[in-house]
Amino acid sequence: SQDDGGGEVVTWKISPVNDRLRTRQLPGMALHPCSNTEKHSSLEAMKKWHSSPLGLSRCTASARNLSVCGIGPGGGDGMEDQSPFRTPPSLPYSFTEPLNAGITCDGGPDQLEAGQHKKALLDLLDQVEDAITEEELPVDAGNKGGQVTVGDSTDSRCSPIANSSLNVESNKPREAPSFDSFLVLEVSEKHKGDSSCDRYPAKVLRLLNEHCGKEYSVHLCDEWFHSTVVPGDTVSVIGEFSDQGKCTVDHDSNLVIVHPELLISGTRVASSFHCPRRSVLDERLKSNEYSTSALMGTLLHQVFQAGLLEDVPSRQFLEQHAKEVLLNNLESLYACGASERSTHSILIEAIPKMLNWYKSFMKGSKSTNVDFGHTEGRKTVEVTEMMDIEEMAWAPRYGLKGIIDASVISRVNSCGGGSYDKVMPLEFKTGKSTSGQQSAMEHSAQVILYTLLMSERYLNTDIDMGLLYYLHTDQTLGIKVKRSDLIGLMMRRNELASEILKASFSQSFPAMLQSPSSCTGCRHLTSCTIYHKVHGGNTATSGLGDLFDNLVNHLSVAHHNFLKHWDRLIDLEARTSQVKKKEILLPLHYNSGSKSSAPSFYVLDMKNEHSVDSSGKSKRYIYNFVREKMQPEAAGHSEPQAESLDFNLKSGDCVVLSTQSGRI
Ligand code: SF4
Repeated sequence: SQDDGGGEVVTWKISPVNDRLRTRQLPGMALHPCSNTEKHSSLEAMKKWHSSPLGLSRCTASARNLSVCGIGPGGGDGMEDQSPFRTPPSLPYSFTEPLNAGITCDGGPDQLEAGQHKKALLDLLDQVEDAITEEELPVDAGNKGGQVTVGDSTDSRCSPIANSSLNVESNKPREAPSFDSFLVLEVSEKHKGDSSCDRYPAKVLRLLNEHCGKEYSVHLCDEWFHSTVVPGDTVSVIGEFSDQGKCTVDHDSNLVIVHPELLISGTRVASSFHCPRRSVLDERLKSNEYSTSALMGTLLHQVFQAGLLEDVPSRQFLEQHAKEVLLNNLESLYACGASERSTHSILIEAIPKMLNWYKSFMKGSKSTNVDFGHTEGRKTVEVTEMMDIEEMAWAPRYGLKGIIDASVISRVNSCGGGSYDKVMPLEFKTGKSTSGQQSAMEHSAQVILYTLLMSERYLNTDIDMGLLYYLHTDQTLGIKVKRSDLIGLMMRRNELASEILKASFSQSFPAMLQSPSSCTGCRHLTSCTIYHKVHGGNTATSGLGDLFDNLVNHLSVAHHNFLKHWDRLIDLEARTSQVKKKEILLPLHYNSGSKSSAPSFYVLDMKNEHSVDSSGKSKRYIYNFVREKMQPEAAGHSEPQAESLDFNLKSGDCVVLSTQSGRI
């Protein structure tokens, strides 16, 4: 972007592939009916909310006792689909005694940290209360009798996975499904013998739609019972609410997303199964480490992706591209001490395997058999169209983001006859450590989460398959999304979101793995051990013996205090920007009543043609956006939005530009 001060001209980089999306109809483009049945917001509920001392002393959750629940750590008993993505049961969530108008959760192992967490949550709730008091309730133009109309209420029925079947098609016009987020007011548990509940055990969330002030309830059953949700959390629900405002999230239907404003990458969710602490550290620390294997992966990706964009990629083309890739990355090569010659030969050696893949799967190929697991069996797959490469996708609805190696359309032929076109992600793995159960599980998890991202990106409910290509073994696997896997992954995503948020409020992280074999090669070993020591850990609790001592014994109390002090200040600063991010990502109903929170006051400058910048590593398409002058009558509505978003675009900033109407 570029800010010349006066004219506020902003330049954006857009992939030309996006243009193709506007003009073509994708296969299976299913469009969800976004019905607005929830039209009756309640001013009464809002008044009740105001008059209560933030209501939270009404929390009634009781301590969870697994033996009473009769549910093992793996989830509900009698579950048919056993998924590898099982989330261990969360920490017990309980209320010991009501505090004064406060949250009374007691369940963490560390009382002090829990206290800080509660305090932070209370502060957050105070802010929410202030916001509700100050904001005017949105009144719909067609509203009668003082009732507030919910523009696009909890319309999670638009979800591609609200039903257990992922393949729901519709011919309705394409429209981004909307969603609402709710504030959790209260969490309680229902067990056997509780007459107020038809299913048990169930975790019942009392929710407030902050837009309309109406209360809803969500019953978390089966494996969802083990979700960690506490009062003060934000959640979004993908599922249908009954007329009484109730939704049940269980093994068969619906999803609940905790802290949807935290967009977590699919890779991070997948790797957190092994060490949640590492994923939290990944989120907080930028690693400056130059790793040869990571760089090799990047270079191989670039060569492979260049071939994907060619109609008939030849050996000469790939070899030439490998040379260019090498030249463009010389600095990184020297930074990690890799030899140019050996890196070049690794790239050249990989080319025959890549050519073999193109021959087997690209348009006009013989259509190769791919194993999609025991339920789907083997299918022949031919990639008929490359939609995009390195596509960045955000899905605030699922609290996920990611960069997809390649987005493709494939023609799938099942063995029983019949063929159909499918949009699917193609993930490319170059490392040698691509075998083994853990890696395989993480890679499938990534592909499954990418199908969700793509279903949001392309508004296509039918994306439930993906391809995973291992360069090292020259093997391509098919991944078919199963709901049981999806539940495990989304529950892990929710746990991770809570852990990331907890770390930013109380600087406390998930426990150390205590596994020398895993920790020795971990990129965060030094930071992880320092944090452990600074927050009261010792050699025994680290599980690393002398390795731990060697890394942290030099630290004094002054060092500890310094780190704690500055770490907290950084978190406070980060939270301020997080509030802005949340405003952008979550649906904005206040003030303008608009569904969109994107900076719509920027418009494309149509007077000038876009230019192409070929000076850098890759070709960039530069478009000019200018700030639109507000009409006097519109200014009253739009200015507060513009101010609240406070966009200060500068040269060098990275931006994401949505091509979807009303969504970022
Ligand atoms: S050093 Fe060990 S415990 Fe720490 S983040 Fe790495 S793997 Fe996890």
